[in-house]
Amino acid sequence: MYDELLRRNLPRVEERVAAALARAGRDGAVRLVAVTKGHGVAAVRAAWSAGIRDVGENRVQELEAKRTGYEAAAPADATGERPAWHLIGHLQRNKVRRALKLFDVIHSVDSLRLARELSKEAARAGEPVQALVQVNVSGEGTKGGFEPSRVIDDIAAVAALPELTVHGLMTMAPFTDDEAEIRRTFSATRELLERCAAADIALSGRDLSMGMSSDYEIAIEEGSTMIRLGTILFGEREQ
Ligand SMILES: *Cc1c(COP(=O)(O)O)cnc(C)c1O
Repeated sequence: MYDELLRRNLPRVEERVAAALARAGRDGAVRLVAVTKGHGVAAVRAAWSAGIRDVGENRVQELEAKRTGYEAAAPADATGERPAWHLIGHLQRNKVRRALKLFDVIHSVDSLRLARELSKEAARAGEPVQALVQVNVSGEGTKGGFEPSRVIDDIAAVAALPELTVHGLMTMAPFTDDEAEIRRTFSATRELLERCAAADIALSGRDLSMGMSSDYEIAIEEGSTMIRLGTILFGEREQ
């Protein structure tokens, strides 16, 4: 079922990604993170077969089960390669150690306390954590992430932590049909990344993780380098 869905949906998404890049006059690629939350391990396998190498989940527990299922069948894959797993949802500090064992990239570093805990546990594990700082440029209450008021200082503090490699910023647009408001959120996030560079904050990359099924084309027009797509690839989630 998922193979069939991807055969149908992925080329359409890829076309739209290319068109959005062209509209923005951008060359360079956008990384597609296939969000498999709410879908079983079959969705991950189908994504891998379709050539997708980045998979997103928003809960530690769910990926724990899914990775076990995925890896049980992995010997069948002669290459021994596996997807890079991206954590895109809020991470509780008491799950940091487990999360570091499971995920390759954490998009949702949304507080200094979490960042410090990640840094500490990464040092203990002897391996730096690859991360993005989640920002809430609209200041909307329901969204996670660093708030606008002192965000530059906060990003600087996160970037200065040992064993924590910050590749850029992540954001979510507000739930609204107002395209202008969505666009403002994405452009403000891109500007924030530029301000970080101007302030000599030593980020390890210039990634912008922005855009979901409903707004990825706008996000790409505004500079996104990583889009996180679930529904448009795999259909509605059960939960
Ligand atoms: C669920 C989720 C997505 C994917 O959402 P879709 O609308 O299904 O594409 C992207 N980013 C985050 C942070 C999510 O929680």
